[in-house]
Amino acid sequence: MSAPAAARGGARLARARRVVVKIGSALLVEKSTGRVNRAWLETLAADVAAMRARGQEVVIVSSGAIALGRRQLGLAPGKLKLEESQAAAAVGQIRLAHAWKEVLEQHDCAVAQMLLTFGDTEERRRYLNARSTLNTLLKLGAVPVINENDTVATAEIRYGDNDRLAARVAQMASADCLVLLSDVDGLYTADPSRDAKARFIPEVTGITPEIEAMAGGSASDVGSGGMATKVLAGKIAVAAGCNMCITAGREQHPLRRIEAGGRCTWFVAKTSPQTVRKQWIAGLLQPAGVLHVDSGAAKALRGGKSLLPAGVTRVEGRFDRGDAVIVRDADGAEIARGLSAYSSEDARRASGRRSQELEAILGYRGRDELIHRDDLVLT
Ligand code: GLU
Repeated sequence: MSAPAAARGGARLARARRVVVKIGSALLVEKSTGRVNRAWLETLAADVAAMRARGQEVVIVSSGAIALGRRQLGLAPGKLKLEESQAAAAVGQIRLAHAWKEVLEQHDCAVAQMLLTFGDTEERRRYLNARSTLNTLLKLGAVPVINENDTVATAEIRYGDNDRLAARVAQMASADCLVLLSDVDGLYTADPSRDAKARFIPEVTGITPEIEAMAGGSASDVGSGGMATKVLAGKIAVAAGCNMCITAGREQHPLRRIEAGGRCTWFVAKTSPQTVRKQWIAGLLQPAGVLHVDSGAAKALRGGKSLLPAGVTRVEGRFDRGDAVIVRDADGAEIARGLSAYSSEDARRASGRRSQELEAILGYRGRDELIHRDDLVLT
């Protein structure tokens, strides 16, 4: 890799605010013993701790449950039946979570397990729920360790590979960097094991049909963990404003190596996660309701603040939590659009009230803001 490209790559990781790191089974689980590759994992945990010490937030997407569990259950090598992999995951996930807890707690990092199923990122309401749990964990200083909930995921409704899961998590977390650690060091113009002329590609700035062809055919028809799923993950990440890097993670301190300009392929995003999210909110068709606000709230919104229930004078329409609504000022002019943290019914009850009163009024403790500023776009 040329020196400037390597330095640019290293800076993308070192300067990211929120980073998702995906670790493939082949790195985590020792082939010969079927156990966690503990010595290596400790060096990765040290890298994660160093990033957190610099103020970066880190989310782990870890594979390895099936590989760890199959050994313990004495399942024969080769392809497993669906119910066997579900059973293996049930056993292996405990070991996996335990390994992460042990290595990260040495650095005083609280570890949080999140097991996601397909619907948690693909269905809107569940997506919002998983997103807010993830944000809360990060805010409280924990390191979320995520895997697919393989024990209940069935063939038709699963991600199947953690590359795609990790990209969805990066999108959900509005992460600005996604790292895929695996046993390949990046993307080549052709399969390097078969073609001596295959060239390494350090940077991808647009996922063209040529790039997809280099990954070995269309991104959708290759199974778990291949280059095609990585390119598909790259598409999701880049569209979400997140830079993604593919690199070989087998050496010790794999994240530190990337920062130092180690060999990897970067998929470069042209925009930021915040811009993508705001564009998405602004472009949502047919907002389901209107929140009328007083002049104090209108001023606060224009100054970049969240919308609190106290500033809302009237609620129109029927909407659920997470639906898009329009915000209008006292003259009826549209000033913003955003995602409501409350249903229309609860928003009506909460309007004009102070955030501290909400729990008594609603009977549960929800968000202080009716629309959080991250979910709000001025129009
Ligand atoms: N979720 C699977 C596991 O933990 C891994 C999926 C993949 O290989 O990407 O074993």
